[in-house]
Amino acid sequence: VDYKKSAGFAAHVKKDEKEAKSSEFARTKTIREQREYLPAFSVREDLLRTVRENNIVIVVGETGSGKTTQLTQYLMEEGYTEYGIVGCTQPRRVAAMSVAKRVSEEVAAMVKESGKRELNDEIDGLGGTVGYSIRFEDLTNEHTLIKYMTDGVLLRESLRDPDLNKYSAIIMDEAHERSLNTDVLFGVLRKVAARRSDLKLIVTSATLSADVFSDFFGGVPIFRIPGRTFPVETYFAKSVQEDYVMAAVKQTLQIHFNSPPGDILIFMTGQEDIEGTCTVLAEKMTNLGEDSKPLLVLPMYSQLPADLQAKIFDAAPEGVRKCIVSTNVAETSLTVDGIKYVIDSGYCKLKVYNPKIGMDALNVTPVSRANANQRSGRAGRTGPGFCFRLYTERQFREELMETAVPEIQRTNLSNVVLLLKSLGIKNLLDFDFMDPPPEDNIMTSLYQLWILGAIDNTGDLTALGRRMVEFPLDPPLSKMLLFAHEHGQCSSEVLIVVSMLSVPSVFFRPKGREEESDAVREKFFVPESDHLTLLNVYLRAKQYKFDAQWCTKHFIHSKGIRKAREVHAQLVDLMKQQKLDPVSCGGSWDVVRKSICSAYFYNSSKIKGIGEYINMLSGIPSALHPSSALFGLGYTPDYVCYHELISTTKEYMSCVTAVEGEWLAELGPMFFSIKESYESALKRRQRERSDAAAMEKEMEKKKMEEEKERER
Ligand code: ADP
Ligand code: MG
Repeated sequence: VDYKKSAGFAAHVKKDEKEAKSSEFARTKTIREQREYLPAFSVREDLLRTVRENNIVIVVGETGSGKTTQLTQYLMEEGYTEYGIVGCTQPRRVAAMSVAKRVSEEVAAMVKESGKRELNDEIDGLGGTVGYSIRFEDLTNEHTLIKYMTDGVLLRESLRDPDLNKYSAIIMDEAHERSLNTDVLFGVLRKVAARRSDLKLIVTSATLSADVFSDFFGGVPIFRIPGRTFPVETYFAKSVQEDYVMAAVKQTLQIHFNSPPGDILIFMTGQEDIEGTCTVLAEKMTNLGEDSKPLLVLPMYSQLPADLQAKIFDAAPEGVRKCIVSTNVAETSLTVDGIKYVIDSGYCKLKVYNPKIGMDALNVTPVSRANANQRSGRAGRTGPGFCFRLYTERQFREELMETAVPEIQRTNLSNVVLLLKSLGIKNLLDFDFMDPPPEDNIMTSLYQLWILGAIDNTGDLTALGRRMVEFPLDPPLSKMLLFAHEHGQCSSEVLIVVSMLSVPSVFFRPKGREEESDAVREKFFVPESDHLTLLNVYLRAKQYKFDAQWCTKHFIHSKGIRKAREVHAQLVDLMKQQKLDPVSCGGSWDVVRKSICSAYFYNSSKIKGIGEYINMLSGIPSALHPSSALFGLGYTPDYVCYHELISTTKEYMSCVTAVEGEWLAELGPMFFSIKESYESALKRRQRERSDAAAMEKEMEKKKMEEEKERER
């Protein structure tokens, strides 16, 4: 890649007199010294005073200044944990786990240094004083004082405990990310803070534009942690790059063999291109022979096992250069010290609502200019650095957006709408959103909840809807579970299906052994359903007690299927809490298929021609995904439902189940009638619109009636 040095984009950086040799620093300094070196420490007293004097404070500081790891500890050291837990929310699961681990180590080191008592794993290990909680995984105990969690977890807790009384302080971290749940939490916590004068609320942001947060809470103080950044020289590609993976590899080798020591951080979009980059880099390094300079290549993405994730923080051995290939989790959520070179692909994966398929899809999207600048900033944390952007300066200026669109404005809101409804928020358009979602989005979500039977014509939660909220699942999945319980006598089986759908695919298809693994997988196939195939795999693994060897032999990720078992156990608990004891249908699995249909009838296709399907609502041709059991066994039923649509060269239905035409008519009467089970896309859209409008009218009417009622 040929580069052009940027004109003026490195201007935000500031010089500092002493340059820290960071990896060396981590190796030789005690944890106390490391903590005290962080920018947050230099303003600790001021910060604590501001918190003492104000119930809500916005804290702004560069990535790596110590917001996430230090604020919780400062509050604990200051005694806030004497009357409650200090909670800290993260938009990303990975960050919650990784940071909790680091902080538990820091806290344990401080205890050890104080010499006050012997270390005790139950208190000082991860899950003791410092723990974390993410969906389906709660690592906290009765000793926990500092709790990291995803924003979604805190939002759910507010359902059970609207005042969040167990917390003395809540830190909403990474507010600049504007994740969907954080945005909703803003509205919820503003109300909580108004009711609880003893609660401390801290909102942190890595970007300087914190005024919106301050304004939202009525002009609360903004505390700025002074930055300590070094100049970063930024370079743009001279021409548009076709293949950012290859371009990144080339640039990495260029740096590795021609530039001074210092670690490299490459920003990619997700698991696939990260693994691709790592593989190609490893190949190139092998080809160059053993006596070339060693390069330690480490991937980082959310599905990577936690022990491998933790490796990115270890200092590389003397004389070895570290090269981390990461998703945008390394942009602001996680800070790795010692990065001198950043390579920015210019892309990230974003969840975007796709109206064509009626659900969210993860799309590879160009980053915003704000993201790009955060990325380059990673090179200047511990010394002057360099950033190589794999896109042209023109692309940067003309094609990238200024800032990313908040998630709330671009994704499906069904989950959030259901949650807010059960928090008693009647009219969502009146809820305190920092940036309200487009009305269309709210209406689409209401509509989806309505077709699932979670809300009635007036927009109120139904009995079913109230039960659905109890499960930390997407609405269709909780519907499936409850339908199975009430109408199918097969909740045991559907619990397993739902658990398997809640973890990443358990099938393992190693490179070079594709055919062999496919052949083994085929033995698990249930001809009429991929969902039932998942059920089958789980039941078989269970017979073998989820034995790791058995799993490996059958090309199944043993960690993945054990995760499914944990999810299963938690869902069973939740069922029992609602006095719903799981019941099994034995071997007659047709009712399981019907339950699946009850949740996914709007994702249905009808056969047209030989082995070809068209979507029943949109009329778009949709093919069976090659990984499907139906495809593998050449079974082509008249009607199918699918879990999701994958759009590549064409539209593929993935996770498919054969259903009966009558079921569609029975379970999705708003779409299908027995006679006419196909509607043109246009007709459907018209109907959707008039349904939504009618619903809106009824809601409006009801609201007016309520107001009248109140006046009386
Ligand atoms: P901020 O939240 O302001 O971006 P952090 O609190 O995340 O900053 O980071 C403070 C310091 O803690 C950084 O120097 C970072 O490298 C270090 N750190 C964070 N997590 C780990 C970890 N798992 N291992 C080692 N160091 C870590
Ligand atoms: Mg942070």
